[in-house]
Amino acid sequence: MRALVYSVHNFDRPFLEKAAQHHYMHFTELALNTDTAHLAKGFDAISLFSNDDGSSAVLQILHHYGIKFIALRSAGFDHVDIEAAKSLGIKVGRVPEYSPYAIAEHAVAMLLALNRKLFEARELMRLQDFRLDGLTGFDIHGKTVGIVGTGKIGIAFARIMKGFGTRLLANDPVLNPHAPELEIEYVSLQELLMRCDIVSLHCPLNSSTYHLLGKNEFALMKRNAILINTARGAVIDTEALIHALMHKQIAGACLDVYEREKGLFFYDHRTSVLTDPHFMILKGMKNVILTGHQAFLTAEALEAIAHITAQNLTEWEIHGKSANDLN
Ligand code: NAD
Repeated sequence: MRALVYSVHNFDRPFLEKAAQHHYMHFTELALNTDTAHLAKGFDAISLFSNDDGSSAVLQILHHYGIKFIALRSAGFDHVDIEAAKSLGIKVGRVPEYSPYAIAEHAVAMLLALNRKLFEARELMRLQDFRLDGLTGFDIHGKTVGIVGTGKIGIAFARIMKGFGTRLLANDPVLNPHAPELEIEYVSLQELLMRCDIVSLHCPLNSSTYHLLGKNEFALMKRNAILINTARGAVIDTEALIHALMHKQIAGACLDVYEREKGLFFYDHRTSVLTDPHFMILKGMKNVILTGHQAFLTAEALEAIAHITAQNLTEWEIHGKSANDLN
């Protein structure tokens, strides 16, 4: 199988090289879009990361160049038009699970850093200002935590938060079989938002979750609440979030994903003038912690992503289908 692997970065390249097995993998740092789709000429398959463009227009170009398989190196597949791929006879497979712990642990890391003001504390330490004023946080123990989406990552997050001694509420159309052992109470989204001190999003981005949290939802939340988003940026209406943060409708936000992160995250913009005003506002807010879509970034997760991606290619080569096909 000859595969062109888009959006390869220094952090994942060694893992992909090791996992390539007998496949010929050609790596490019470029992201897939209408300008770069022609690079796939001469390959059987391509591999994509979470910010590549798998829209219908791009898929048509790939089809024209004979691409038969798309191996996603992500669990989320909101960036690919699966139906369009199906109608073009292109199989799309993903990595449904690599390490739910990586994402859940990053969500907790951001929560602790924001709550205990670790970034400010580090800066004060550097300045040799050892006063503690302004660094007060709150005990997580005894608080009520809301989890939107209790799939693999949501449940991993729930297990950690249970260890802190919290009460767990959840919203998900599907009840997780592990929920009873964690004493998770399923409630409506509205009730969850009204009752929780910490709300963490772990649902996929799709038509039912696009802007799931907007103006009306932020109005329901507690003024002391911290919101965590490691799911997908567009699950939140960014403008409404900024309004809620500025008007103290909620206390803070921990964001690993951003609605317009495509072309921004994963690249060096040190010499660029960033022009997205919403991003600039969020980046400058003291009660917001932003990371650049790095929740998955552990050695264990990268190894599993590379291994399962190569495995999907092998299954396609031998059987014409893989266990992780989406269409
Ligand atoms: P999963 O499929 O195991 O779980 C998703 C859960 O969300 C399911 O239980 C589903 O029923 C629920 N859900 C669907 N629609 C919902 C809705 N409208 N309201 C509430 N719940 C809803 O997926 P997962 O492996 O836990 O991953 C969750 C998401 O995390 C992915 O779709 C992806 O977008 C994101 N993710 C982010 C990173 C990162 O690095 N930041 C890495 C991996 C995954």
